[in-house]
Amino acid sequence: MKIKILHLYPDLLNLYGDKGNIECMRKRLIWRGIDAEVIEYTSDDTGFDLADVDIVFIGGGSDREQKIVCGKLLEHKEAIKNYVEDNGTLVAVCGGYQLLGKYYKLENETIDGLDILDIYTEQGKKRLIGNIVLESDFISEKIVGFENHGGRTYIGNHTPLGKVIYGYGNDEKSAAEGVVYKNVVATYLHGPLLPKNPALCDYILSNAVKRRNPDFEGLLELDDSLENTANQYIVNRFKK
Ligand code: GLN
Repeated sequence: MKIKILHLYPDLLNLYGDKGNIECMRKRLIWRGIDAEVIEYTSDDTGFDLADVDIVFIGGGSDREQKIVCGKLLEHKEAIKNYVEDNGTLVAVCGGYQLLGKYYKLENETIDGLDILDIYTEQGKKRLIGNIVLESDFISEKIVGFENHGGRTYIGNHTPLGKVIYGYGNDEKSAAEGVVYKNVVATYLHGPLLPKNPALCDYILSNAVKRRNPDFEGLLELDDSLENTANQYIVNRFKK
């Protein structure tokens, strides 16, 4: 079996090394004997086909880069929507998360989103920057990470990825962070999110592998003792 990972716009949206998430997914598949191929789709490329793609990844970036990407991705709106509704796995980080919504309202302009999730984002006064820890119904371990965003995202009736136990999250007030919808995981947690949270990586990989092979019985266990020690260290550091 081979899992195809499509990395959208690594040349524009790769803040804090979001690309580390791609490497983490690839390695954790290969360690289990599952072949993995990464396709990078940059702003110079002219089209992509989601027909045999298993995982789509969109990272985060500045408002300027995000605007360029939004403009380009609107051409693929229907294809991405169909892929999501057909249970395609999509991981979106920060700017990538915001652009899945209806719009991102800045001080002087509004950037149209892909309208794949029923959410919207508005720029707030101060940036929300710092470490963040979540409790999630999707995995038993806590999720640790780093956030840096000016936008506040309002997710309506969507299910959040987790509840904030330290940090800001979607909108600084609701204690919700991210969105999980079908096989979409969208989050403000930047940079090497998946290496820090192997259980979340495996949740994402399982969804993708199951869709490719409905007879799949679950991922082989890996020795994550080092990763879990690092994760636990951060959880303890920010425990209230
Ligand atoms: N430009 C967006 C914001 O500031 C997203 C930032 C990011 O991806 N770090 O809200």
